[in-house]
Amino acid sequence: MQPLSLVIHGGAGTIVPEDMTHELEKAYINGLSQALENGYAILEAGGTAVDAIRTSIKVLEDNVLFNAGRGSVFTKKGVQEMDAAIMDGKNLKAGAIAGVRNVRNPIELAYEVMENSNHVFLSGKGANDFAIKQGLKLEPDEYFFSKFRYDQWKELRDSDNYSLDHTHQDLAELMKDKKFGTVGAVALDQFGNIAASTSTGGMTNKKYGRIGDSPIIGSGTYANNKTCAISCTGHGELFIRAVAAYDVSALMEYKGYTLQQAMEEVVHHKLLEIKGEGGMIGVDAHGNTAMVFNSAGMYRAMKNSKGEIKVGIYKNENSL
Ligand code: ASP
Repeated sequence: MQPLSLVIHGGAGTIVPEDMTHELEKAYINGLSQALENGYAILEAGGTAVDAIRTSIKVLEDNVLFNAGRGSVFTKKGVQEMDAAIMDGKNLKAGAIAGVRNVRNPIELAYEVMENSNHVFLSGKGANDFAIKQGLKLEPDEYFFSKFRYDQWKELRDSDNYSLDHTHQDLAELMKDKKFGTVGAVALDQFGNIAASTSTGGMTNKKYGRIGDSPIIGSGTYANNKTCAISCTGHGELFIRAVAAYDVSALMEYKGYTLQQAMEEVVHHKLLEIKGEGGMIGVDAHGNTAMVFNSAGMYRAMKNSKGEIKVGIYKNENSL
């Protein structure tokens, strides 16, 4: 029987048990589990990897705890500008969007770009216009508002600083330091195809139309049936410079590394050398999966047809 696998993440960073309340931990685990189960149900029902990851990402985008869709961080101007990408490893088709506002599910816009446009990457107003043309669901600014990210932004908005953190003041004053809330999903379906997707609000107080690694094919997101499907999370500028997701694929294709070896090489060596904090999730066409990070924690979960299920937040912990 053809193996099935799904891996998701909800961001990486300085996520340590001391800063976490039991309640919040539960809320994150529930959010991850729901995204995992809904996405995996698509695979089990014979759906494609692309549809499974879209499903998982939408659940995470709709959950205010994660920095993607609803609950995205605030820009310098006090609005949400979202980035997302999706890639189909079967044919190397890809769709990406950046700096988009008011689109309820940015991953759906990236999907529309992939399937129903002649382009790969749309940005800003043009991307928004395309969302309207494709009939995607829009929401008012209030929908994206979250008190804890607003408070976090208030602390930064009068400065030139930007932050990859999303400090939850109301939610238990946790994550004082760095933490990333981007979401991602990768999957292998019954047809032997793999796919990857990533969605994010980016960084608090970002300005000048800043775009991170998430929507950049090869940096934050990449999929190729020959090698792997990868979704990254972390300090985007460094992941762009490391061309992180594609680098994993290249190590597998040209050097014969396994998925795990290639991801460890990029996360623990290449990225660390330039102080690129964060992590990534991956799957290959045989159903092998990996979740590798160099930060204190990464929200993550996986499920496969061998019956393995893992949900984790901190280091040295494979399941909760
Ligand atoms: N990589 C994302 C960015 O730089 C942030 C994150 O992963 O949380 O926009």
